[in-house]
Amino acid sequence: MEVMIAKTAGFCFGVKRAVDQVYEQLKRNDKPIYTYGPIIHNEEVVRDLEEKGVKVIHSEEELAELHDAVVVIRSHGVGKRVYEIMKEKDIELVDATCPFVKKIHRIAVEQNEEGRRLIIVGNENHPEVQGIKGWGNDNTLVIETPEQATSMPILEGEKLCIVSQTTFNYNKFQDLVEKVSEKRYDILVLNTICNATQERQVEAKRIASEVDAMIVIGGKSSSNTQKLYDICRRECKNTYYIQTLGDLDPDCGNSVRSVGITAGASTPNYIIEEVHTNVRIKF
Ligand code: SF4
Repeated sequence: MEVMIAKTAGFCFGVKRAVDQVYEQLKRNDKPIYTYGPIIHNEEVVRDLEEKGVKVIHSEEELAELHDAVVVIRSHGVGKRVYEIMKEKDIELVDATCPFVKKIHRIAVEQNEEGRRLIIVGNENHPEVQGIKGWGNDNTLVIETPEQATSMPILEGEKLCIVSQTTFNYNKFQDLVEKVSEKRYDILVLNTICNATQERQVEAKRIASEVDAMIVIGGKSSSNTQKLYDICRRECKNTYYIQTLGDLDPDCGNSVRSVGITAGASTPNYIIEEVHTNVRIKF
């Protein structure tokens, strides 16, 4: 049995940095520690942190109730209002927003100042997109489908700036930009898709096209893992989406000669290793 494991599987730079910062705070801060939303889309890591006393808050209302606390902003980032509340309430801020996401926040502010309307290509409900929106203005729009791109309520002569959720699929982004461009607006297009995501997707696609079965590891609510799964599934119909080794169908190795493994950006290395070892021994 040949096993091909993706070099790009697992924690990206931004997620590793955010998780490390929470563990770092545990070592050196006596105040209660909170994360604004789960630090990553991985139940195992979140549970481990909970056991060590780190609590998760989910809303600006919960944030406003805190006193004498430390709050870690995760790699997805947050809108401007969250920073304002922390300042008003004198909450200690540990900002683990990924620098690539931070850059989009800066673009949002600068382009609004330049008079351009911000269009975010991405999933409206994703926290990263919510955070970016929180740096735009009331005119900011989010689009995810060709239908939304063609039916956007844009005024004649409006100038636009299009950015992307960092984990969005590059080809879909290009298609949506083309759809918007058909209307001949004055558009500034900034491709803010993160390289880590692109590289992981390209490698996953290549491996999935070469193997008989493909395993994609990641949290069920991780959008980048879901996209990896979709990409791999198109190349290899025997693609399995698992969170941990426990989810792996023991029969998935039956009558296959090669297996590929990749993992989303929030998957800890030890889970990837566990799956890798198990596949090598049992299949
Ligand atoms: S995927 Fe890219 S943008 Fe997102 S956290 Fe990781 S390094 Fe940052």
